[in-house]
Amino acid sequence: METYDIICIGAGPTGLATAIEAKRAGMRPLVIDKACLCNSIYHYPVNMVFFTTPELLEIGDLPLVCAAEKPTRGEALKYYRRAAEHYGLELRLYERVMRVEGQNGDFTVTTKTEKGIEAKYRAKKIAVATGYYDLPNLLGVPGEFCGGNGARPLSERCTGYTGAPQQGLGRERQVLGTP
Ligand SMILES: Cc1cc2nc3c(=O)[nH]c(=O)nc-3n(C[C@H](O)[C@H](O)[C@H](O)COP(=O)(O)OP(=O)(O)OC[C@H]3O[C@@H](n4cnc5c(N)ncnc54)[C@H](O)[C@@H]3O)c2cc1C
Repeated sequence: METYDIICIGAGPTGLATAIEAKRAGMRPLVIDKACLCNSIYHYPVNMVFFTTPELLEIGDLPLVCAAEKPTRGEALKYYRRAAEHYGLELRLYERVMRVEGQNGDFTVTTKTEKGIEAKYRAKKIAVATGYYDLPNLLGVPGEFCGGNGARPLSERCTGYTGAPQQGLGRERQVLGTP
């Protein structure tokens, strides 16, 4: 079993920043994500522009250069991809963390790949950086996972978090929430 100084669960900006700082401090970090690098940002509306200015989104002392005042989704994705490459981060993508066992100094992390293959990693420390935008509160209604993109629930896609408004036009829908 591979052993790391720290395992960061989640390859969003927080997990990447944690791993970069660990590496700069001489440690061996591993970053694990259940989907692609920066999976939450990847599923933002396609033409989204951040409300945050670039310097507040930067990690690892790398400048985020963007064409306008605020970065776009595409610019942010490219930036975090390049940051991970620049620091040579060890990544295990498309592996969902299923369990963390052990105690401070000796943890075992169990993951499952998209194909259902289980893997285990050891680490002295764990950083949980799973965010919240990528963990929707599911409605638990029949058909929630049906539709073209079966991997993501309808309750999430209809909010505009993923996909385009085109997906909803001409289809039956129910709007939940308070005005
Ligand atoms: C439309 C929209 C616009 C936004 N605009 C801004 C903005 O302008 N400025 C700003 O600061 N923030 C903005 N946010 C919030 C932004 O998404 C977060 O600030 C940022 O993504 C947080 O980074 P994070 O690394 O903490 O979490 P995330 O980016 O959510 O990363 C968490 C990662 O953990 C992974 N993960 C979850 N569970 C597991 C598991 N069991 N095993 C392995 N991996 C797992 C996920 O796949 C994901 O990649 C916006 C959000 C949305 C939806």
